[in-house]
Amino acid sequence: MSPLDPTLFGEIDPPQRLLMGPGPVNAHPRVLRAMSADLLGQFDPEMTGFMNQVMALYRPIFGTQNQWTMLIDGTARAAIEASLVSLVEPGDTVLVVNFGRFGLLLTEILSRLGARVEQVSAPWGEVVPLEVIARAIEMHGPSVVATVHGDTSTTMAQPLEGLGALCKAAGAFAYVDATATLGGMEIAGDRWGVDVVTGGLQKCLGGPSGSAPITISDRAAQRIFSRRHVEQGIRRDDIADGKGPRIPSNYFDLAMIMDYWSDKRLNHHTEATSMLYAARECARVALGEGLEARFARHRKAGAAMTAGLRAMGLTVFGDDAHRMTNVTGVYIPEGVDGEAIRTMMRDHFEIEIGTAFGPLQGRIWRLGAMGYNAMRHKVLLTLGALEACLKTQGFSLPLGEAVPAAIAAWEAA
Ligand SMILES: *Cc1c(COP(=O)(O)O)cnc(C)c1O
Repeated sequence: MSPLDPTLFGEIDPPQRLLMGPGPVNAHPRVLRAMSADLLGQFDPEMTGFMNQVMALYRPIFGTQNQWTMLIDGTARAAIEASLVSLVEPGDTVLVVNFGRFGLLLTEILSRLGARVEQVSAPWGEVVPLEVIARAIEMHGPSVVATVHGDTSTTMAQPLEGLGALCKAAGAFAYVDATATLGGMEIAGDRWGVDVVTGGLQKCLGGPSGSAPITISDRAAQRIFSRRHVEQGIRRDDIADGKGPRIPSNYFDLAMIMDYWSDKRLNHHTEATSMLYAARECARVALGEGLEARFARHRKAGAAMTAGLRAMGLTVFGDDAHRMTNVTGVYIPEGVDGEAIRTMMRDHFEIEIGTAFGPLQGRIWRLGAMGYNAMRHKVLLTLGALEACLKTQGFSLPLGEAVPAAIAAWEAA
């Protein structure tokens, strides 16, 4: 066999796509620059200093004072799995608030962990009323209630005000997957009273996927630490003798990860240095802009996108009262080939819009405007391009209406 000619594949040079789907989105240039900074050893005081800065930077982003606010190395799903594997014992009852694909993901992970999964569900495009969650908690007595905040599969945002109090009264922990909304809609970890909240960088935080911010209440941390295997005061995570309750994952063992992020700096994995730089810069960009201003920008982008789509005569998907601000679903009109439009958007305009999953596959497109892409000109370009593609594919629609409607909605929101 001849050796592979290294010139066969050129230096990486991706096209300049505008990513206006449900995530990932284009990263902020400052984040990309931070990622190219020089590497450090994982116990270098400069590096552990950056880790402490990340803990401080993500507390306001999660709306919390939680000491245990840090990063899980991996995509958002890594933090979801770390939370559930560390909180839930086999046989525990877990109530999942299920209103889309990411609710299904929670049930899937939980059933692998041997939990008894109970669900309160809403049809796709709606959310679950708090009273319904309250009744289900009463009925099932779960040890954990797990929910998604914004489910990009349905574009719905589940209201979470009051969930923590309900869970505490019932002796349950509350887990929230806020991947799609963190940095774009308010996450009020402490005011909601929820115990564990996780996110990702590639949605409203405007970074690449690969690092997952997490915050853990003291109450939940205590529970997680109590599952650690300690013998004669010595932590014995590395000894597989099956004694005592143990978290059945090493990589996702939050007790070990918290020890690594604590002043003890007990070795676990090697913190993903460049991703930590990215996460740090995402948070600096977000806090530099101001969270309120950032939420307002996402609100304006969502309002403009929605108004523009409606001005084209299209029907926006889902319950208006609970819409996420950063991603909008819209029905693919009768007689239009949804995939042909997406291909044309990509080939002619370098714009990516999203398809959909499960019951919505082939029925809606999902248009995102989040993080670095929640900008007026990017929303207007997307709407103008979509109108042109629909017209070119022979769909008759009111022309020239969408962009002015979006401009007006941006101003008004
Ligand atoms: C996008 C998204 C995820 C993605 O997880 P990754 O592992 O980063 O792909 C998880 N949860 C929700 C609600 C999301 O919208």
